[in-house]
Amino acid sequence: MIILLMGPQGSGKGTQGQLLSQEMNIPIIGAGALLRDEIASGSELGVKIKSIIDPGNLVPAEIITELLDKRLKKDDAKNGALIDGYPRDARQLDLLFERMTPDLAIVLELNDEDAVMRLGGRWMCPDGHIWNMNSNPPKENGRCDDDGKELFQRDDDKEEAIRLRLNIYRNDTAPLIAGLAEHGVNVARIDASGPIEEVHDKIKSILE
Ligand SMILES: [Zn+2]
Repeated sequence: MIILLMGPQGSGKGTQGQLLSQEMNIPIIGAGALLRDEIASGSELGVKIKSIIDPGNLVPAEIITELLDKRLKKDDAKNGALIDGYPRDARQLDLLFERMTPDLAIVLELNDEDAVMRLGGRWMCPDGHIWNMNSNPPKENGRCDDDGKELFQRDDDKEEAIRLRLNIYRNDTAPLIAGLAEHGVNVARIDASGPIEEVHDKIKSILE
């Protein structure tokens, strides 16, 4: 059973993927991790990928699809896999269907305001302690409870950066969902605004 996991940042895709992976005993295959692993392997292809990524270019869909295909043939994926972060654009979608038709796409839906609320509240302590102004605020504003150090916000966690990534998802990835349905993939849209357990239960009821 090949399941695509889709959803914007903040939708809990990573957490839900891990829960499903454990329960179904199938691996999560992430497009980003495939590229990183290939680079780490030191293979010829890995060297080529690094030379593409380092200056900030996007890895061609052909390469990512080839890595995915290779990964799916490994033993631990013989009963299926959860695929995260792929397809990301129309080209990847076309290449995917040249090789396989996934059984199901789980689409976690969350509006931008909720995503910004979940992601935008994160502040870091220089020692690595993480606080969230919305869900787990420190007692004193701007200071770490554990050591009193001044908190800072990473560039990636700032609201404008989050909104930029959400826009990319809406523009490039969300339209693919219609394409998946047209190719005969079962698409399950799940409201991801609730707590982790509640969302997980909704996914499980679809799998049954
Ligand atoms: Zn701290």
